[in-house]
Amino acid sequence: MNIALIAHDKKKELMIQFCIAYCGIFAKHDLCATGTTGKLVHEATGLPVTCFLSGAQGGDQQISARIAYNEIDIVLFFRDPHETNTREPDILSMLKLCDEHNIPVATNVATAEMIILGLERGDLDYRNILKSR
Ligand code: PGA
Repeated sequence: MNIALIAHDKKKELMIQFCIAYCGIFAKHDLCATGTTGKLVHEATGLPVTCFLSGAQGGDQQISARIAYNEIDIVLFFRDPHETNTREPDILSMLKLCDEHNIPVATNVATAEMIILGLERGDLDYRNILKSR
């Protein structure tokens, strides 16, 4: 599965700890991320991460484009709910694309944990079946 990781600045440490905790599961999948998030996750876990541009430079939109092409299976987007974000329209557009393509998306660590544990249990295997059609 292709898993996209994005974390706002105040959530980056949480993302790192999450990826360390579930490193064994992530190691069986392909990771991509916005620039800074990906660099930090790679440095902390040693996992290969395809890094796009930083969020501020359009990395979110690069991930959105891949969602639109059905190239992403899971999005873990640790948002800072208190950030006054001028890129809010990009975030809404990404969430809308996830809804359009039925992509499991987590915007906080609690949901992310459920998705990753479900992934490990095989709950998302249907995505491989859909893709092979
Ligand atoms: P970053 O982007 O990983 O490059 O910091 C995340 C974001 O703020 O959208």
